[in-house]
Amino acid sequence: MQKDQLLTRRRALLAGAATLGAAGIAAALAPGAGNRGATASPPAAGAPPARRPLRPSEYRLRPLTGYGPPRTTPGRTPVREEPLLKVPDNGRTVVLTFDDGPDPRYTPRILDTLARYEVRAMFFVCGEMAEYNPHLLARMADEGHVVGNHTWTHPLLTKLRRRTIRSEMERTSDVVEKHYGSRPEWFRAPYGAWNRATFELGAELGMEPLAWTVDTLDWTEPGTRTIVGRVEDGAAPGVVVLSHDAGGDRSQSVKALRSYLPFLLDSGYHVTVPRREYV
Ligand SMILES: [Zn+2]
Repeated sequence: MQKDQLLTRRRALLAGAATLGAAGIAAALAPGAGNRGATASPPAAGAPPARRPLRPSEYRLRPLTGYGPPRTTPGRTPVREEPLLKVPDNGRTVVLTFDDGPDPRYTPRILDTLARYEVRAMFFVCGEMAEYNPHLLARMADEGHVVGNHTWTHPLLTKLRRRTIRSEMERTSDVVEKHYGSRPEWFRAPYGAWNRATFELGAELGMEPLAWTVDTLDWTEPGTRTIVGRVEDGAAPGVVVLSHDAGGDRSQSVKALRSYLPFLLDSGYHVTVPRREYV
């Protein structure tokens, strides 16, 4: 990775940390801040101006946290009894989600389209895919997308022992943290197969369960026009759209996005990512 890319990621991470730092408890959902990527929080009011210029050595004596917003601990994630199906619809917000990747054949093309229209989306990645394609996680971080946890190997969790479910989730959060820069705050069960253990373990790992409202069924390769039609017909305030960027030939999913994304934007939808808000 180029040095300037690292710096960009670092800045993005710091901006994210600042947002979280200003947080308190009580997780709530809110649509993302906008189509153009996260904006950094204003500087903390708490840092008093220095009375005289500091010598370089003096900086090292000061705790870094003294300059930033307070680092409060985010509140506990609630244990849900069912996954969230949509986001609060204050405004015509639509969330696009892409599951099972990242895949070097399709994910970059999806990212290109999202970048072209300056919108952000969610990628529910599988750990084993992420491990093979770390640069794609880095790119998602750079471009302001949200990465969620979709387990390591995409198993049917309801058939697994609790210990195995935990391992599937935890390893994936670890690899996401390593290459994306922060641990996922969202979890989606493969096949939408949730049970109590998935809610409890997800919450323990700080993740909210997010399902979807509109299923494009793109994995059945029904034809690009069918996928486009399902998104355009299903669009409504707060809708979460499910598509895939891996797991088979996803050319149709890639092409469909190029068609329905401008349609959604022209129809006045705000295509964005949900944000975990700590009030
Ligand atoms: Zn999946």
